[in-house]
Amino acid sequence: MSVVIAIANQKGGVGKTTTAVNLGASLAVAEKRTMVVDLDAQANATSALGLRTDADRSSYDLFLGSLAASECVRREVHFPNLDVIPASNRLFGAELGLARKEGREQVLRTALEPVRDRYEYLLLDSPPSLGLVTLNVLTAADAVIIPIQCEYLALEGMSQLLHTVRLVQKHLNAALDIEGILLTMFDSRTRHARQVVAEAREYFPEKVFATTIPRNVRVAEAPGFGAPIVCYDALCKGASAYMDLARELIDRRAAVDGNGAALNRGAG
Ligand code: ATP
Ligand code: MG
Repeated sequence: MSVVIAIANQKGGVGKTTTAVNLGASLAVAEKRTMVVDLDAQANATSALGLRTDADRSSYDLFLGSLAASECVRREVHFPNLDVIPASNRLFGAELGLARKEGREQVLRTALEPVRDRYEYLLLDSPPSLGLVTLNVLTAADAVIIPIQCEYLALEGMSQLLHTVRLVQKHLNAALDIEGILLTMFDSRTRHARQVVAEAREYFPEKVFATTIPRNVRVAEAPGFGAPIVCYDALCKGASAYMDLARELIDRRAAVDGNGAALNRGAG
C-alpha cells in the first residue's frame, strides 16, 4: 500500500522541509521504499538531500506537463530506498501558469499517479503559502502532517490551515486525512515551549504525534552538508527523534491498513 503525505503549513520556517527530508531518510533506513517530492521553489529539500537546485528535470515539469514523473525521479545517493523529485527555482512561475489551466488543482495528483505504487511513502514538501501549488499538494495527498514550531503564537494560523484542509476535503479530495500535528524545535528549558506542547495536545488530543522533535543544532547543520541527519550524525537527539517519528508513522499506517483489510474482508 502506498500513502502520499503532504507536509504543510503556510507559516514559514516551522520545520516542513526538515521533516520531509529527515522523516523521508528515516523511513528509508527502516527499509520503506520512500520518495521525497520537493514542491517548494526555494528547493531547500533538494539541496538538503545533496542535489542541485537547477536540475533540467524537476517538479516544475510535473506542473508544465512537459515530463512524466518517472523521468524526474532521482536516486538519492546515500540511501537505497530513497528517491527524490527535486525542485528548481523555476517553480516560482508555476502558480501563474496553473492559474489559467483547466483542472488546475489536480495536476500534481494526475502526474504522480503512475509512480505512486512504486513507493510505500511519498512525502510532499510544500511552500509556505496556501496558493495553487499547496492546493495541488493537498489534492494529491492521502494525508497531511502539519509541523508546528514550539514557540509563542505557534497555533496562530492553524485555523486558516484547517479551513483550507476542510475546503479541499469538500471540493477536491474527500479522502484527505490529517495524519498528525508534529511539534518541532522543542526546547524543554523554556516555559513557553512546554506551554505550546500542552496547548496543542489539549486542542488536538488525537492528532498530535507522541514524538516531539527537539531543537538540535546538528539538525540545523546537516542541510549545509547536503545530508539528512541520519547520515550527518546518526547518534544525535535530532536523528533519534526522526527515527522515532518514522516508527510512530509506520505503526499508525499499519493500524490504518489493518482496519482497511478488515473492512474489505467484512465487505467480501
Ligand atoms: P519554509 O516555510 O521557508 O519552507 P520550513 O517550514 O520548511 O520553512 P525548515 O526549513 O525545515 O522550515 O526549518 C527552518 C529553519 O529551522 C532551518 O534553518 C532549519 O535548519 C531549522 N530547524 C528545523 N528543525 C530544527 C530542529 N529540530 N533543530 C534546530 N533547527 C531546526
Ligand atoms: Mg521549507
